[in-house]
Amino acid sequence: MLVVVVLLATVLLRLAIVTAVVYLLLPQGPRCPHCSLDMVAIRNRFFDLLVPLLERRWCMECGWNGVVRRVRGARTRSRVQRTTTLRPRSTLR
Ligand SMILES: [Zn+2]
Repeated sequence: MLVVVVLLATVLLRLAIVTAVVYLLLPQGPRCPHCSLDMVAIRNRFFDLLVPLLERRWCMECGWNGVVRRVRGARTRSRVQRTTTLRPRSTLR
């Protein structure tokens, strides 16, 4: 019985270590890891209830999407900063 408890404890400890490392490897905050612009939050009620420390975000500039660590106090509605400016129609051709 003691062997089972020790093996179960090592498995749980391994799971805790892997979870902590994966959490620390995720990008943090509303900034895109590629172009460092603000990303748009993708709301999923089930995901928010299941893992409140993480959130899905999508970068409208480069198209990156993924799970990031939620930053406390971060804006829920992020504005996307545009690097490209709109040109007048006469210069498009
Ligand atoms: Zn981006």
